[in-house]
Amino acid sequence: KRLILIGPPGSGKGTQSPIIKDEYCLCHLATGDMLRAAVAAKTPLGVKAKEAMNKGELVSDDLVVGIIDEAMKKPSCQKGFILDGFPRTVVQAEKLDEMLEKQGKTIDKVLNFAIDDAILEERITGRWIHASSGRSYHTKFAPPKAPGVDDVTGEPLMQRKDDTAEVLKSRLEAFHRQTEPVIDYYAKKGVVAQLPAEKPPKEVTTEVQKDNL
Ligand code: ADP
Ligand code: ADP
Ligand code: ADP
Repeated sequence: KRLILIGPPGSGKGTQSPIIKDEYCLCHLATGDMLRAAVAAKTPLGVKAKEAMNKGELVSDDLVVGIIDEAMKKPSCQKGFILDGFPRTVVQAEKLDEMLEKQGKTIDKVLNFAIDDAILEERITGRWIHASSGRSYHTKFAPPKAPGVDDVTGEPLMQRKDDTAEVLKSRLEAFHRQTEPVIDYYAKKGVVAQLPAEKPPKEVTTEVQKDNL
């Protein structure tokens, strides 16, 4: 299956992805994780992306389309994939359609993580991540077994530089202005499933499973 996860920052995309991935053996492509790795490694891509990311603005369409095009060529992504955080603009969605059309493929389902903006600040400011895997925790809603430490690797957790109330405002603005139209784009194709993203993680998972992707 080929799936897209769309939702504002903090809506739970990264939390649900590993579960969907394990269930369907799909490859998980998260543009935010890939960009953060590029920023940390100071690659040319990272250097170009860093400023926009720190301000909570979107990185240019060309840059992210390039990384997705490259990543989708991996053998593990041939049977299906989960796109987490891409496409975030209608231009990106159109480019993705072009890439898939060439291979005679289409998107099976778009999961819309529907949630009220008011809930997101608490989720974002309490988020801690394991940078290399992208696993996320929350001080209140999903605490790690030991404080500040990843459950799987024992490595330290970190907070994202853009996970502040201030930068969240810009990210939400970008979401409403540039990404919400992407939901309409796929709704016209009849492939959007709504998820009650404000519910606890386990209940969201149950809904994902009910949707029988
Ligand atoms: P996204 O990838 O959409 O930005 P995350 O999955 O990283 O969002 O979740 C944001 C924060 O909220 C994390 O700290 C995560 O542990 C927590 N979280 C995720 N899903 C839920 C939920 N259903 N209820 C409460 N907290 C959640
Ligand atoms: P979140 O999980 O909080 O929704 P991400 O980790 O997906 O955030 O993205 C972090 C940042 O990376 C975004 O604010 C944006 O600057 C950049 N980014 C990620 N994906 C895209 C994309 N598809 N197009 C443009 N910028 C992107
Ligand atoms: P600066 O050089 O401006 O202080 P940082 O080095 O703190 O910037 O980080 C820049 C961005 O890269 C931040 O969004 C941060 O969350 C992310 N980042 C930092 N270290 C890592 C890492 N090891 N893996 C992935 N992302 C990282």
